[in-house]
Amino acid sequence: MASVSDNLFSVLSAGKDAGRTAFISGWGAAMRYGDLWAASARMAHRLVALGVAPGDRIAVQTEKSVETLVLYLASLRAGAVYLPLNTAYTPAEVGYFLGDAEPTLFVVDPAAIGTMSAVAREAGATLVTLGADGASGTLLDGLDALPSDFATVPRGADDLAAILYTSGTTGRSKGAMLTHANLRSNAETLMRTWRFTAEDELLHALPIYHTHGLFVATNTLMLAGGTIRLLPKFNLDAIFRGLETATALMGVPTFYTRLLADSRLDCANTAGVRLFVSGSAPLLAETHRAWEAATGHRILERYGMTETNMNCSNPYEGERRPGTVGPGLPGVSVRVVDETTGEPVPPGTIGMVEVKGPNVFKGYWRMPEKTAAEFRADGYFITGDLGQLSADGYLEIVGRGKDLIITGGLNVYPKEVETEIDALDGVEESAVIGLPDADFGEAVTAVVVRTPGSALAEADIVAAIAPRLARFKQPKAVFFADALPRNTMGKVQKAVLRETFGKQLV
Ligand code: AMP
Repeated sequence: MASVSDNLFSVLSAGKDAGRTAFISGWGAAMRYGDLWAASARMAHRLVALGVAPGDRIAVQTEKSVETLVLYLASLRAGAVYLPLNTAYTPAEVGYFLGDAEPTLFVVDPAAIGTMSAVAREAGATLVTLGADGASGTLLDGLDALPSDFATVPRGADDLAAILYTSGTTGRSKGAMLTHANLRSNAETLMRTWRFTAEDELLHALPIYHTHGLFVATNTLMLAGGTIRLLPKFNLDAIFRGLETATALMGVPTFYTRLLADSRLDCANTAGVRLFVSGSAPLLAETHRAWEAATGHRILERYGMTETNMNCSNPYEGERRPGTVGPGLPGVSVRVVDETTGEPVPPGTIGMVEVKGPNVFKGYWRMPEKTAAEFRADGYFITGDLGQLSADGYLEIVGRGKDLIITGGLNVYPKEVETEIDALDGVEESAVIGLPDADFGEAVTAVVVRTPGSALAEADIVAAIAPRLARFKQPKAVFFADALPRNTMGKVQKAVLRETFGKQLV
């Protein structure tokens, strides 16, 4: 049964103090909650005038701004399905998403009108623009004259609120269908678990086309009635300035390594912050310890994915264990199974991580077979991540299943080899990949970034780890690189490394 109260917008807006600040753009304009709801009402009227009906998709490829978030809220209110796209996607990539999702409306930056007109036309979507300043673009035409209240469209808890395409490192990118209930449950759980209240000010430097910046950060803070300071992107000076008033920062591990490399970081300039959260990619235990030594704070690492929202979190109170993502969140069941039998494995054994709970998505858009293949009969979603549980229920992620190396029929978990290499003097970081090999099927290969001035050679690395790892796990080749390729969420792109160094081997 559809009801207004099941629309995520109703949940986010209920009981808010209209006078409190919702968003601050950098150190510029602030928007109060009352004005945010009014702006979302005007925008919802505008969407309806542009032909958006409940259930329609709205594709959005715009810069980060408060107005883009107003558009997100308006999409919820109008009962539409919000579809954010990475700003780096090319017209060809966008063409695929629009063809697949068939949105009614496509919102782009005014600068993209030339390149995206044909793409929108081809997909049958109406093209409108919204500028990074939030003050320009055809989406805003006539907006001020529209009513500042709007009857939020009733939705069923199981109706779609958003579709987020997965990054698609293997095969075609898939549209993860997220329902109003999925997003609501995760926002409620994270707000309680991480103790967010109206007193909080979150420093927000993540992109808002991804689950981390859009849902984990924005939904959770709006539900709590707190304030979000939006930075266009990560910038050291801006982060240090933001930390003067922020009570929380959510980041990817690269935020923390970059801050650690800056001599300004100390206990004094992080003293007002009560919570540092890390996720979207593995935080090295070493980074966790270095952060504590520099600031006195223990970073809270959590684990989630586009399809599932957040699954695990280290505790707010209690032990935050470096190198782990903590136990399952309240209401989320997490298990580790033998991939072939589907049977749970004992603690301390590596297997496939599977999750079940109200946070887990409805399925992949228009891919029923793919969806069915990724759920077990008892409702658990097969994440594709390999991990192990400790006896007391803390999960350690050891990498994506597809990055597992099978050499001479034996499994090598890249993280185990990377940890040994990273511990060597003169190594900044490393990535271990499998490259095709006539003898072994795959050959363990390391790509190493040296610290400045280090003269470490391939033979030094091989010799140093030889006594520490079984022979089949030792790299057959070591390459050096200036940096590891990472996407905007800080994930090392192993497919890119396999491509680059695969060529060098032949
Ligand atoms: P995305 O859908 O872009 O959010 O990517 C989800 C994937 O990121 C997961 O399946 C994991 O492989 C990885 N990931 C997210 N958080 C963590 C974490 N704390 N540690 C290790 N990997 C993580």
